[in-house]
Amino acid sequence: MTSVMTPPGVKAPGDYIESVMISVKAKNPAEPEFHQAVAEVFDSLRLVLAKHPEYQSARLLERIVEPERVLMFRVPWFDDLGNIQVNRGFRIEMNSAIGPYKGGLRFHPSVNLGILKFLAFEQVFKNSLTTLPMGGGKGGSDFDPKGKSDNEVMRFCQSFMTELQRHIGPDTDVPAGDIGVGGREIGFLFGQYKRLRNEFTGVLTGKGLAWGGSLIRPEATGYGCVYFANEMLKSKKDSLEGKLCLVSGSGNVSQYTIEKLLDFGAKPLTVSDSNGVIYDPEGINREKLAFIIELKNVKRGRIRDYADHYKKAIFMPTDIKLEHNPLWNVKADCAFPSATQNEITAKDAANLIKNGVKLVAEGANMPSTLDATKMFLDAKILYGPAKAANAGGVATSGLEMAQNSARLSWTRQEVDDRLHKIMIAIHQNCYETAEKYGTPGNLVNGANIGGFLKVANAMLDQGLV
Ligand code: NDP
Repeated sequence: MTSVMTPPGVKAPGDYIESVMISVKAKNPAEPEFHQAVAEVFDSLRLVLAKHPEYQSARLLERIVEPERVLMFRVPWFDDLGNIQVNRGFRIEMNSAIGPYKGGLRFHPSVNLGILKFLAFEQVFKNSLTTLPMGGGKGGSDFDPKGKSDNEVMRFCQSFMTELQRHIGPDTDVPAGDIGVGGREIGFLFGQYKRLRNEFTGVLTGKGLAWGGSLIRPEATGYGCVYFANEMLKSKKDSLEGKLCLVSGSGNVSQYTIEKLLDFGAKPLTVSDSNGVIYDPEGINREKLAFIIELKNVKRGRIRDYADHYKKAIFMPTDIKLEHNPLWNVKADCAFPSATQNEITAKDAANLIKNGVKLVAEGANMPSTLDATKMFLDAKILYGPAKAANAGGVATSGLEMAQNSARLSWTRQEVDDRLHKIMIAIHQNCYETAEKYGTPGNLVNGANIGGFLKVANAMLDQGLV
């Protein structure tokens, strides 16, 4: 690799990265997840800045870590007893260099500014990798839909959208779902937007099929993650057939990861929620998956009920004193973290590697800590980072936007084929970029650099804005 001589007075790329990282931590205190996401991308960009001093002269790193806009607002609502409740709403409009802001809304009590900034930052690179024209954004609230009635969820969504509608639009910012925001919430949010603005537009994705939604959007993140895993295995002349698989979570991403794993002949063994882990040594088949979908999406129950229904399955309740997650200590070939950030610690990574896991494909966003990521890379297992492996969800949201603009609907097969092709293309881009920058097989570098270059060049083209 050729490196460029650094003129006197100009920082060497490593020092430049270091100084921007120090400033990110100083300017964004108490946001550890944001620091973590930036540090991971910056580590890969060392390889880029050595070849492209123009990014450093344009102070691209300082610009790319600064959101274009941060919105934070009060969301008051009445609960079923007539009491006043107050939550906090957010929308981070991170980067619009290659298209309107695009990214999900998360409703979960853990939501705060730093978590949404990490998600919005990741989203910028992920959306770039999809090959579709979408900028990056993310939003949500510390509202917890668990245990709330449908009417309470509706009143909250209406209050949330009453403010958010001022800032979004089909050519400006197009939110979607994420943790705690599924079809029900998107429906209530869309209804209120339409009522306030008197327009029927594709302002949200993940809509119902009868009112502008796309076939395959609910399935897309899970299906896409498995398509990506399949490409990783193909690069080693291997396949998913017969592989024992660990899946965490039991929500949208987990459910459709399990479905697609079954299509490929793999054997999913686990699911979880915040209260505990299910290990089913006989494997989760289609009938058991239907039980999980009904339990989680209709009854809105807890995953422990699975073990009451299927007696050979084992339920392990969450134990905060345990410094590892027993799910990642079940012997298997492949792991699909699909719940939340930092759910795989260094100890969990050590357990996975010790038990012979050959592949980790991240359905959740940033599920592995920086230490865990490093251990997977050092162990040279197949490691598909979130911004590449789970990009199928937002890619299919992009396809929903295209269908809305053209006012037509594609068939299930057509959307699935496009999703599959996009995941193959993302894998190829990451694989080839990793090779081109001298780190073959390192898909973390491949994804970070591949995603960055397109956005950075668009920012240079558009001047200092
Ligand atoms: P859901 O709300 O449908 O499901 C989330 C699942 O993860 C639930 O089983 C939930 O358990 C569990 N979970 C959430 N937070 C925690 C926590 N702090 N500790 C333990 N378990 C937790 O969300 P999704 O399936 O949509 O999202 C899962 C992950 O995938 C997230 O990281 C999200 O950002 C990412 N993702 C989602 C996309 C999408 O299209 N939906 C697209 C790309 C990424 P419980 O019910 O107990 O809370």
